[in-house]
Amino acid sequence: MFEKILIANRGEIALRILRACKELGIATVAVHSTADADAMHVRLADESVCIGPPAARDSYLNIPSLLAACEITGADAVHPGYGFLAENARFAEILSDHNVHFIGPKAEHIRIMGDKIEAKKTAQRLGIPVVPGSEGGITNDEDAHRVAAEIGFPVLVKAASGGGGRGMKVAMTADDLSQALSTARTEAKAAFGDDSVYLEKYLSTPRHIEVQVLGDGKGNAIHLGERDCSLQRRHQKVWEEAPSPALNASQRTEIGEIVAAAMRELKYLGVGTVEFLYEDGRFYFIEMNTRIQVEHPVTEMITGIDLINEQIRVAAGLPMNFTQKDIVLDGHAIECRINAEHPRTFRPSPGKITHYHVPGGLGIRVDSAAYQGYTIPPYYDSLVGKLIVHGRTREECLMRLRRALDEFVVDGVETTLPLFRTLVRTQAIADGAYDIHWLEHFLAEGEGKS
Ligand code: ADP
Repeated sequence: MFEKILIANRGEIALRILRACKELGIATVAVHSTADADAMHVRLADESVCIGPPAARDSYLNIPSLLAACEITGADAVHPGYGFLAENARFAEILSDHNVHFIGPKAEHIRIMGDKIEAKKTAQRLGIPVVPGSEGGITNDEDAHRVAAEIGFPVLVKAASGGGGRGMKVAMTADDLSQALSTARTEAKAAFGDDSVYLEKYLSTPRHIEVQVLGDGKGNAIHLGERDCSLQRRHQKVWEEAPSPALNASQRTEIGEIVAAAMRELKYLGVGTVEFLYEDGRFYFIEMNTRIQVEHPVTEMITGIDLINEQIRVAAGLPMNFTQKDIVLDGHAIECRINAEHPRTFRPSPGKITHYHVPGGLGIRVDSAAYQGYTIPPYYDSLVGKLIVHGRTREECLMRLRRALDEFVVDGVETTLPLFRTLVRTQAIADGAYDIHWLEHFLAEGEGKS
């Protein structure tokens, strides 16, 4: 097992990793920018190192500084969390060149899944169902029109290096296609420095359902059920739940087994998430995230398994604590991402938290690095904390969530708490009847007004 882990992240996920390390008896090193000197992850770690000024590219993304921090502290492994360098294959390789373990998958798997065209080809080869579309990249408009005619409109132009929903354009008809291609290419070039795009059938009312996997890198892999992340705004997840209200037990087992078998064949190492769109009873692969995800706690709540503990164990070459038959899904869990943003306009609202009170009681978990008096800096994402609620049934979970949201106090900054208080009392949510566009429509109609 590792002796000392450097956590190359900040905020709630740095704290989450720190907690797993403490339970495993592993010493921890926090790194921080000058803006985060009084952050909670710095206070709770055994050691801390300042790695640069506020801008992420000069601190949390600064590989030479992180290497120096490993060297100074003698850390033998780095946990990247999510975001920042978590899916940077080069970072994993550089660490390994310096005899430091990267807590994540093999660099080759990060690289394959980071290129959406390669990822889709790999998924297809491994027997995972994919969205009908172009075989690979689309280099000229003529090919695009041919493929679009084959799969039928509407079609979606997507960036090969895409992320965060950028570089994606819908073409409703053949007349829109050339424009969609050129806009997507321009956007992709600006955002990712790569203008390769591909074409996919546009699904009009899908749900977003993703499968959590864990592999030991030696050909053993299991799945831990799915999460439904259909409630999104601008392709960003807002509310996640497990299990999905749309699936029955046999659909769950079927897709889980397909994904686990693919991961066994890949000899996948660590935690990962295979994301699908789900429409009319069918699954369509969209991408794989080769890291721990923001919404991992809902899976932890229904399985009782500490995913980060498992992730660290397998990275150290230890066997997984579980086999597939040990995985029992118990009850229902929902996560709300509480952001420091205006609940209607979603304008970021950094600043000082003057009052802070988190809900408690049976089945309530709050993953947050905030505290009373903490100043949310303007430089990073606006996540204040995640409220995760567990119940024996979905109804019990919603009832408890209503109560917990009412108890949650974050004063001094605007937060998205009022939006969740509305959502949890909305019929479509109670019915579990929503697709990936539902929230945008709801907000546009002004029903999210608080
Ligand atoms: P990114 O990496 O930019 O987040 P994804 O491929 O994961 O891109 O897609 C993000 C979101 O875009 C999905 O959750 C879904 O809302 C939408 N989307 C992606 N592909 C399709 C598709 N073929 N049809 C309809 N919506 C899609």
